[in-house]
Amino acid sequence: MLPGTALLLAACDPAPPGPNDAFQIAYRAAGTNNLVSTAYTEATGWTTETVPIGLNMAPDTSPGVAIYRDQVHIVYRAAQGDLVDTWWTRNLGWQTRSVPVGPAAAGNVSATGYGDALHIVYRATSGALVNTRYTEALGWEPQVVQIGLPVAADSSPDVTVFGNELHIGYRASGGQVVNTWYTPDIGWQTNLVPLGDTAAGDVSVAGFGDSYHVVYRATAGHVVDTVYTQADGWRTGAVPVGLNIASDASPDVAAYGDELHVVYRAAQGDAVNTWWDPTEGWHSNSVPIGPTAAGDLSAVAYPYPPPPRPIVTQDCEAVANGPSIPEAESGAVTSVIGTIRVHNCLAPRLAGLLSAAANDGINLGGGGYRPIERQIELRRQNCGTSDYAIYEMRASSCSPPTARPGYSMHERGVAIDFTVGGSTIRSGSAAFNWLKAHAVSYGLYNLPSETWHWSVNGK
Ligand SMILES: [Zn+2]
Repeated sequence: MLPGTALLLAACDPAPPGPNDAFQIAYRAAGTNNLVSTAYTEATGWTTETVPIGLNMAPDTSPGVAIYRDQVHIVYRAAQGDLVDTWWTRNLGWQTRSVPVGPAAAGNVSATGYGDALHIVYRATSGALVNTRYTEALGWEPQVVQIGLPVAADSSPDVTVFGNELHIGYRASGGQVVNTWYTPDIGWQTNLVPLGDTAAGDVSVAGFGDSYHVVYRATAGHVVDTVYTQADGWRTGAVPVGLNIASDASPDVAAYGDELHVVYRAAQGDAVNTWWDPTEGWHSNSVPIGPTAAGDLSAVAYPYPPPPRPIVTQDCEAVANGPSIPEAESGAVTSVIGTIRVHNCLAPRLAGLLSAAANDGINLGGGGYRPIERQIELRRQNCGTSDYAIYEMRASSCSPPTARPGYSMHERGVAIDFTVGGSTIRSGSAAFNWLKAHAVSYGLYNLPSETWHWSVNGK
């Protein structure tokens, strides 16, 4: 029995997982190095698939899995050295991109959603601890976390959220287990986790209600769970059941509703799921995986239905500059006006513009909102088929110019490509001249390089 755990859980009472809440595991398959996604829900049981896209995974690494904005993100180090972010949404399936910035990664990559950001944390080849943040508004921002001890050269950090804090746990080169965390008002702080036993491999961390768990394989071979709560400080114990963990594997800990799960590759090769729940305490089973796992398993809970998002703004300025893409994905924030789908913030103004144009004999059609999937197709068509061409090349190097996926105002539903009679409008045409004279009074501005493209900010 883990000292203190039951006491701490009682204080917080997270709800049991619902029938469609998923427990999501990612791992690298032995032999093929394919990326495998295995998920459990009460409604469907276990389902496994090989993730169909992305670069080849490096043969000496393991993926990290996270939930960000109702998407499952699996991040990993590719054989070419790129960091890859491959993600799944319910309406678009799998998509992938290279993470474009930051020092070169070594070891395994870990990820978590934190507020409106996706955080990717890893040890750089230089030994630095890197925290790369993605937001829809600012894109990718890499940061070297300056405090704490050096990360052990044979170890990888793990990142999680606990309350309103972002926590990174790792084994330091001197053998210490380090907990480094960020709060919005104080910034970065660090401390040492009191050791139960000498740690080996990688440390895993997870917030669970009002307790914070640090889980690792001890050099003696058992799995250690060290728990922190504000009320009781640090306590440590062993995860009591399950098959023996492989001597070259590290466990991953994740909360799933009111259950605390520890997953790992066993010495026999099984993927083991050991968990604590309030009625039965600790118990364990083997995950009926497809391909045999190599390296380490990573796990996260994926709630369904997703937690509510902030109220959708009707301010087009905020939609143009803020994190509006996932809102648009929901379908609930766009409407069709005439034949054009746009964000609701623009719908009344577009309706006014279309009817005023029609009164002047100009019958406008066109295309507005498009999902990021369609933007990726357009990049492939207009820019080239390499990852570089699709995700990184300048828009102006494409023919016709095409914004990078994630950066088009069409993905936000606040840009329109106007047509007349099915053809995009041209400079000097009656429709173009009409828009030039009147669009501004509906808050729409032309992108000068594309006569047909009008948006709330001219981008
Ligand atoms: Zn356009």
